Amino acid sequence: MTDQSQDENQILRDTVREFLKREVEPISSKIDSQDYFPADVFKKMGKMGFLGVTIPEEYGGSALGYEAQAMIEEEIGYYSASLALSYGAHSNLCLDNLYRNGSEELRENYVPKLSSGEFIGSLALTEPESGSDALNMKTVSTENGNGFSITGSKTFITNAPVADLFLVYSRFGDGYNAYCVLSDDKGFSRGKKFDKMGMRGSPTGEIYFDSLQIPYNRLIGKRGDGKRIILSGLNSERVILSFIFIGVARRALELALKYSTERKQSGKFLYEFQLIQEKLAYMYTRLRTSRLLAEDSLGLLKRDPLDSVSAASAILHATESAEYIAREAIQIFGGYGYIKDNEPERLMRDAILGQIGAGTTEIRKRLVALGIVKQYREGKVRL
Ligand SMILES: Cc1cc2nc3c(=O)[nH]c(=O)nc-3n(C[C@H](O)[C@H](O)[C@H](O)COP(=O)(O)OP(=O)(O)OC[C@H]3O[C@@H](n4cnc5c(N)ncnc54)[C@H](O)[C@@H]3O)c2cc1C
Repeated sequence: MTDQSQDENQILRDTVREFLKREVEPISSKIDSQDYFPADVFKKMGKMGFLGVTIPEEYGGSALGYEAQAMIEEEIGYYSASLALSYGAHSNLCLDNLYRNGSEELRENYVPKLSSGEFIGSLALTEPESGSDALNMKTVSTENGNGFSITGSKTFITNAPVADLFLVYSRFGDGYNAYCVLSDDKGFSRGKKFDKMGMRGSPTGEIYFDSLQIPYNRLIGKRGDGKRIILSGLNSERVILSFIFIGVARRALELALKYSTERKQSGKFLYEFQLIQEKLAYMYTRLRTSRLLAEDSLGLLKRDPLDSVSAASAILHATESAEYIAREAIQIFGGYGYIKDNEPERLMRDAILGQIGAGTTEIRKRLVALGIVKQYREGKVRL
């Protein structure tokens, strides 16, 4: 990276931080305690160019790329992991995917609306009976004279209770299709909003399709392209979402450092105890390795968007580390760490989602292990 691009990145990071300090920090506790989705902040993020960060300017984006999107994820994650999750579902899972795979007409009609925040976006893959085994979905679509008809349901969908546009996957013949579904389409309905342990404020819910009619021009890609589109987005999603948990971990370590250098027991600051030093050392090391691995994976993804070994190992490490670091922050805070008024408790609840959403820890381990065995057999493993 050149000095100039490093300076530009720092200016962007400072701008994002300034915005979040002003708009999000004062309400981060309300977002959690009241399960409050700050729709106005989302719109302001659109105006700032954060939502369409990977989208070219002619479609209303700011064309800053995936590094900038990752950085924004980390910064939002530092202030409010749940807002970062909703941001990721909107900007990466839905908007970036629609831009990459949609027709020119779909791009023109919806990408500017999603980039500005006029529309909130969502991606719907998971179903009640198919989570890890996502391709075993039951939602089905058939073609008729006017387009397609979709019947089925999706669950655990981020932004579902508030979204205007959904990127929906369904079966089609013996393959899959991807569609752009609008919340005012006839046959679309929303189910319940879930009351979650963490990531509160990022609304998660169910959606239903009852013979929902989709015109031809809202098919994303070609007929039967659904599987390719699912796979084309999964690794980018894994790496970008890793940064939410790097943000959570950074916040937890920062709080632990502050507390351990201010609180005294037995006449000593907490950091002076060797057992606390061990915690701080591991927390720092795991945060740094999470960052380095995720940055490395971001670079590799540019060359090979289908590199699931690198992407899965980045999110595996970042999410396990965030949970570890948040837990250790609670321990360093002692009794105060267990109290809701103090942030480590929220960070811990938010961090746990990292090992479940966007694919679980177990599936990531499977991807990494089977992927490196395959690469090893082909003589291509990078160790
Ligand atoms: C807050 C939240 C937000 C989400 N947002 C979205 C979204 O925006 N869009 C979307 O489509 N989905 C979303 N999801 C769904 C998420 O991707 C799934 O929950 C996840 O993939 C796991 O699926 P499942 O919950 O059905 O668990 P299951 O697949 O039933 O897994 C249950 C357990 O079995 C393990 N397991 C399953 N299969 C295997 C295997 N082959 N080998 C080893 N272990 C296995 C799992 O790791 C897990 O521990 C969200 C989930 C949550 C909680």
